Amino acid sequence: MLIDNHNRRINYLRLAVTDRCNLRCHYCMPSEGINFVKNDKLLTIEELQVLAKSLVDQGIDKIRITGGEPFVRKDLMVLLRYLSSLSGIRELSITTNATLIGPYIQELKALGIMNINLSLDAINRDTFEKITRRDQYDVVYNNLMTLIKEGFQVRINFIVLEDQNVQDIIPILKLQEQYPVSVRFLEEMPFNGGSKHFENIKWHYKAILDYIRTEYPSFEKLAAPNTSTSINYKIPGHLGTFGIIPSFSRTFCGSCNRLRITATGDVITCLYGKPKMNVKDLLRNKVPESVLHQAIEEAIGSRARTGFEAQKEHTAVFESSMTSIGG
Ligand code: SAM
Ligand code: SF4
Repeated sequence: MLIDNHNRRINYLRLAVTDRCNLRCHYCMPSEGINFVKNDKLLTIEELQVLAKSLVDQGIDKIRITGGEPFVRKDLMVLLRYLSSLSGIRELSITTNATLIGPYIQELKALGIMNINLSLDAINRDTFEKITRRDQYDVVYNNLMTLIKEGFQVRINFIVLEDQNVQDIIPILKLQEQYPVSVRFLEEMPFNGGSKHFENIKWHYKAILDYIRTEYPSFEKLAAPNTSTSINYKIPGHLGTFGIIPSFSRTFCGSCNRLRITATGDVITCLYGKPKMNVKDLLRNKVPESVLHQAIEEAIGSRARTGFEAQKEHTAVFESSMTSIGG
């Protein structure tokens, strides 16, 4: 079992499989993209398999595949087939922009990978295109509808962006009124490849909740595991639920159970901190599992207590992009 230096059990891995993406969401990266790493710097599928197995042996029982956009990686299904066969994983899920998932939906269902987080920051096509800088709204919306029809547990991630998509907050709630999905509103974080810096946000979780209350004055707070980052609510009569994720306010650090590994093998123990180490060379040198285990234990043994503490590891502003970190 992995226990950090603040006595928190770490059982949730967010594994990025690429830093590349076919969208250019401006809260995530500049229009020209970032300096994407060379292919040989990305962990291979075999290396990702060895790494995941080693971490599962250490007590990781929940893995979320992220990126970049996971489905730009042509060999993604090879990894997913392997992970879905690994005993010890209680939950396997994917975070995706849903532009490329269409051809894989049936196989995902057959593999039992039914938890999909889908990023959709607008319900209006023009707003979507302005935010993502790409013309993919219809593809995403159709894939969303297919996922719902096929019985996937879909959580829609919507980042509330000042002066850009606030007008879509109430309309996007219609999705959870009509379908059994969860719409989760996230606070914007300053990981956009250095194109925009901010120290405060207008649309923090309390402001988002107050705004929703103007349209829906009564909703019920739902019980959630203490490791959940979202605070979830149910509006009477609606089929689904909605949630708020205080990703900038960081109210959930005390129960954080997450470990992040980037597509290049950087081990990140807090989203707001710097990588603790890199596992690529260990994997390429085919070290025994015990060596990998020790390296991970050391990284987890020096975790910051909170995101605010981790932030001090950066001297000035955040230059990183969420497409490299994985979200
Ligand atoms: N491409 C996939 C997607 O967009 O869902 C997976 C990778 S993306 C980096 C993972 C998550 O990070 C997405 O839900 C995205 O909305 C979120 N994200 C990216 N940049 C962010 C930012 N600056 N603040 C808050 N969330 C962000
Ligand atoms: Fe791509 Fe996801 Fe970043 Fe948007 S948030 S640019 S879809 S990696």
